[in-house]
Amino acid sequence: MTIQRPKGTQDLLPGPIGKWHHLEEIIRSVCREYGYEEIRTPIFEATELFQRGVGETTDIVNKEMYTFPDKADRSLTLRPEGTASVCRAYVEDKLYAQAQPVKLYYVGPMFRYEKPQSGRYRQFHQFGVEVLGADKPVVDAEVISLVWDLYRRLGLRDLEVHINSVGCPTCRAEHRRRLRDFLAPRRGELCRDCQERYERNPLRILDCKNPVCQEVSRGAPTTADTLCEDCREHFGEVQEFLTAAGVTYRPDPRLVRGLDYYRRTAFEIMVEEIGAQSAICGGGRYDGLVEEIGGPPTPAIGFAMGLERVLAALELQQNLQDREHGPFAVVVALGKEAQRQGFSLLSSLRQAGVPSGMDLLGRGLKAQLKQADRQGARLALILGDEELKRQVAILRDLTLGEQAEIAWPDILTTVSAKYKEEEEK
Ligand code: ATP
Ligand code: MG
Repeated sequence: MTIQRPKGTQDLLPGPIGKWHHLEEIIRSVCREYGYEEIRTPIFEATELFQRGVGETTDIVNKEMYTFPDKADRSLTLRPEGTASVCRAYVEDKLYAQAQPVKLYYVGPMFRYEKPQSGRYRQFHQFGVEVLGADKPVVDAEVISLVWDLYRRLGLRDLEVHINSVGCPTCRAEHRRRLRDFLAPRRGELCRDCQERYERNPLRILDCKNPVCQEVSRGAPTTADTLCEDCREHFGEVQEFLTAAGVTYRPDPRLVRGLDYYRRTAFEIMVEEIGAQSAICGGGRYDGLVEEIGGPPTPAIGFAMGLERVLAALELQQNLQDREHGPFAVVVALGKEAQRQGFSLLSSLRQAGVPSGMDLLGRGLKAQLKQADRQGARLALILGDEELKRQVAILRDLTLGEQAEIAWPDILTTVSAKYKEEEEK
């Protein structure tokens, strides 16, 4: 049998890759405008980083990690998300000693052993942003408005920005108590995971996707009922800033991030049209995380966005076309000597920044022109024995069907000018 790619992974082929480039370009330019710098961390890390940084009670750590021993028997894990690695780098590379806050972003593959389905892969890509060393509400609003702007720039519609405050350890204790009281009578109906969550962290029951758990927890006390004065004020200010930035949002008291190090702001962005996997972005404040992995106490906030889901939404809404990047000019050389001259011309065109190509299969004139047409080339430069003798080429405009002779010294400037003109259109 032929070898196939692993379940839950994809080959991104030359046509569709154009959409990825487009998305990544917009991500990078929005990040530049907002003053975020790129960070690249390893694809694998010590397993312990995720156990501590993502949390022992999460599905990610319990069920979804690609963990393996290396040859020296260290336990390593393919990164399932980006935040823990960014925090590790913040501590290890002493970014806390630089001017604060540190504003970072990453784009790259993540790995989770999940049941593959539409919008859910085992290797997928996230764009994420982290701001470390700042705790003010305006930071939360900046991070959310960055996502909002990115979606606006992409032309994505029908977004729902859900936001909530999960409070701080102080006010969460009261919420936890009320939640347990509420759930106690129907505790036996909860799924097995939630039975355990009831003991360890009942907040996460609100996050469970099991329909029975969702039904049992309907009407449960929300964090909004128990926020302390400081958390309430913070949440209010975040909303004021969001309004000031023109972001449309909806407070959603059921939105939670169940881990201890999450504080205050939590948010999620959905696009209903893409179906069951409608969450395209999730984020929140995680003021306790850097300390959890051994760094100084550091307030922080961030989000992660699933790029496959963003592209799926764009595809549905905009019917995106695959874009292949063919050459602008093609050198059509006939005969050995013409090929040598043509190859030299080709390399000058490329050095001048004009995407150019030449036949690589020894085709004849007709077939070369046909291939140039198929690749969407705009110009052909035809070089035969006759042209060689007179040091000229035939410059044919493949879209207009016109052609004229051109002297060698003029080729580079003429073709470059036409390319520039086309680029500026
Ligand atoms: P879900 O509830 O869909 O499992 P999650 O809570 O595990 O999402 P996060 O860990 O917050 O998601 O990751 C942020 C984003 O990454 C998600 O909103 C989603 O767009 C994307 N994402 C997460 N897991 C996958 C996956 N297996 N395949 C594709 N995209 C994913
Ligand atoms: Mg998940």
